[in-house]
Amino acid sequence: MRMHVTRLLIGVFGAALLCASPSAQAPASEMDAHIAAARAAAGLDYRATFVNLCFAGANPGLANPAVARAGGAAPPAGRAAGGRGAAATPARATWYASPYKVFDNFYWLGTRQHSSWALRTSDGLIIIDTNFAWATEPEIINGLTTLGLDPRQIKYVVISHAHGDHDQGAAELQKRFGAKVVMGAPDWESTLQRPATAAGGVPTRDVVVTPAGMKLTLGDTTIDIVPTPGHTPGTLSYVFPVKDQGRTVMVAYSGGTLTGAFGSDATRWDEYVESQNRIAKAAANAGATVILSNHSEYDNAYTKARLLAARREIGEEHPFVVGAAAVQRYFTVMTECALASRLRAGAK
Ligand SMILES: [Zn+2]
Repeated sequence: MRMHVTRLLIGVFGAALLCASPSAQAPASEMDAHIAAARAAAGLDYRATFVNLCFAGANPGLANPAVARAGGAAPPAGRAAGGRGAAATPARATWYASPYKVFDNFYWLGTRQHSSWALRTSDGLIIIDTNFAWATEPEIINGLTTLGLDPRQIKYVVISHAHGDHDQGAAELQKRFGAKVVMGAPDWESTLQRPATAAGGVPTRDVVVTPAGMKLTLGDTTIDIVPTPGHTPGTLSYVFPVKDQGRTVMVAYSGGTLTGAFGSDATRWDEYVESQNRIAKAAANAGATVILSNHSEYDNAYTKARLLAARREIGEEHPFVVGAAAVQRYFTVMTECALASRLRAGAK
């Protein structure tokens, strides 16, 4: 008890000292400085990205339990092999979301947790990420139909990374509609090692994105595919244009987020940070003012999609348009949290 009171007094006294004279404060540790930079960059916009990336390894209790369950903090071995979520379809009431038209030629086909998107071009549709196998029919195929689009027009399925919550629908869209599946080279390797019984099946290799990246053009639309290895070795991020009432708006899409599996592997941390710099630069060069992820908890896609139905007050922007500076802040959160977590993990 005495200890407790003493500590309390030191705490209060210390706090008073800090308030009275901030300049006398000892320099924050390097890790704290990175966390502070991430917190400032996150503001109120990117709280979940900040918490899940900066603290998942420090205190699993702080991380989003859904992410922890899905293997975000410490992925189970089977995850890369697509085993994740391979079991029965969860109760529809826990995940189903209606599809939404987000921009003139861009549509959200997600569940409440994970996003799939359709980009409509003059020569067909590009699906970006596919979600779990059980969501393919209700969300992607029926979603397109509900929005007046024809699933047979799907020409490409671009997969950000080979984890089941983003790629299990790829094989079905390939088989049923002849869509070509696009994936990073290392993620193709892990995908092709899956057993034929893997949830959603195994797609056959179509378009392989090398570390040099590529521009994928369909009709009048080009996606700049930027390899951002880290979350998985073949993770891809994108920059692409959409139309908002006729004006072009550039989108930056962050393809992989969590770092919980990196441990003390310094190369992986470095690669991840380098990747964030690469996509941040591509986004800045293109003037991207929209930031998307494949998880609604990071980009609030589900909430924003529903906001589209609400009346926009005078001066209010499209709910998905956050501005170029806010897009850059997103990548700053990822970078600074990775640098903090790298130090915490003791990666040399
Ligand atoms: Zn993943």
